[in-house]
Amino acid sequence: MSQPNGATPYANPYNHALPSYLQADNLGPWGIYLQQVDRVIPYLGHLARWAETLKRPKRALVVDVPIQLDNGTVAHFEGYRVQHNTSRGPGKGGVRFHQDVTMSEVMALSAWMSIKNAAVNVPYGGAKGGIRVDPKTLSMGELERMTRRYTSEIGIIIGPTKDIPAPDVNTNEQIMAWMMDTYSMNEGATATGVVTGKPVDLGGSLGRREATGRGVYTVGVEAAQHIGLDIATARVAVQGFGNVGGIAGKLFAQAGAKVVAVQDHGGTIYREAGLDVPNLLAHVAANGTVAGFAGAEVIANDAFWDVDCDILIPAALEGQITAANAGRIKARLVIEGANGPTTPAADDILQERNILVLPDVIANAGGVTVSYFEWVQDFSSFFWSEDEINARLVRIMKEAFAGVWSVAQDNKVSLRTATFIVACKRILHARELRGLYP
Ligand code: GLU
Repeated sequence: MSQPNGATPYANPYNHALPSYLQADNLGPWGIYLQQVDRVIPYLGHLARWAETLKRPKRALVVDVPIQLDNGTVAHFEGYRVQHNTSRGPGKGGVRFHQDVTMSEVMALSAWMSIKNAAVNVPYGGAKGGIRVDPKTLSMGELERMTRRYTSEIGIIIGPTKDIPAPDVNTNEQIMAWMMDTYSMNEGATATGVVTGKPVDLGGSLGRREATGRGVYTVGVEAAQHIGLDIATARVAVQGFGNVGGIAGKLFAQAGAKVVAVQDHGGTIYREAGLDVPNLLAHVAANGTVAGFAGAEVIANDAFWDVDCDILIPAALEGQITAANAGRIKARLVIEGANGPTTPAADDILQERNILVLPDVIANAGGVTVSYFEWVQDFSSFFWSEDEINARLVRIMKEAFAGVWSVAQDNKVSLRTATFIVACKRILHARELRGLYP
């Protein structure tokens, strides 16, 4: 990309080679993120000079997390905390406990947090953490010891004004309470603002638990209006029925939509006339999966992608909608509750097929938006009503969506590229204003 002064952003002897940790043949989720950034660079004007900033995490910490198991042996877990960017404020993003966590994944998730936080204009950079573990294999005591040791290890880079973790896949309010306590014990003072998504009785915010699903629903309704899709008669398929998919499914059902199919780690269920969502939520709360739910037929996992639906909500893990299944999807609207569920190749197929994709970096930003409200409430020690929180959340989500929609129209690009344009401009403008140190 040529610059006003005729130089290119890469015109120095140092930026030709990728850093060593980015040179693997298969870059995984981080490679997908890099492709998404490349699509946006032509739209950044003079700010493209700083675009390399987006392609490198600012800071990445790998930690060993040893704990004593209940049987007396010592187990070591791989832990990560990556701060992708802090130009607009402290790092912010969740912590994931999952057996497939890798450095590449945490780097990508941290970068998507930078984009997401800028897209909804909350004053944060982007960060993410994770431990490579299946927490279902741990006892409660083991889970607590692992969480506390991990928090202590990443304690050198987190803090209420530095980097604020939150829940993500397989982490919840109890884990945030242990993280807050561990950090506070090490600091010698209770620091509620070090994590968000805490229990309400410990400085948490009303509405935080439902916020991501509520945001998915809010922008989903906006997008549906733009393509003439009536929510009251829509058929919805949801992948992942936890904190995001479960709440979004509940809100769509309350608006009259039929949730016809749900898939999770236990299997895939289907009901032509629409599932009883409140009963299904109770079943999942009791059993940890949709599998075994009476009042639905079981279908093959792969058949989920062929389900006749108007709205598809991937709300589980990344890399789910690929070139292999994107051609089969019947929905007119895909709302990404998960982070990174669609590969770039699948994005192109969906766009060609005129299926609108509401990307993760705006669709699931409701969670971090209410995390921001929680952090503000903790700092001021003044707590808001749930109605006020939901009203502010809806306002921010609708405004962000409207801005992204008009950028997409003006530039004739996908909503993902439009969201990246809005967000990358905000991040790189801050980068430019701050300048390089030294
Ligand atoms: N883990 C959530 C996300 O991916 C929330 C992060 C936060 O609240 O900081 O957006």
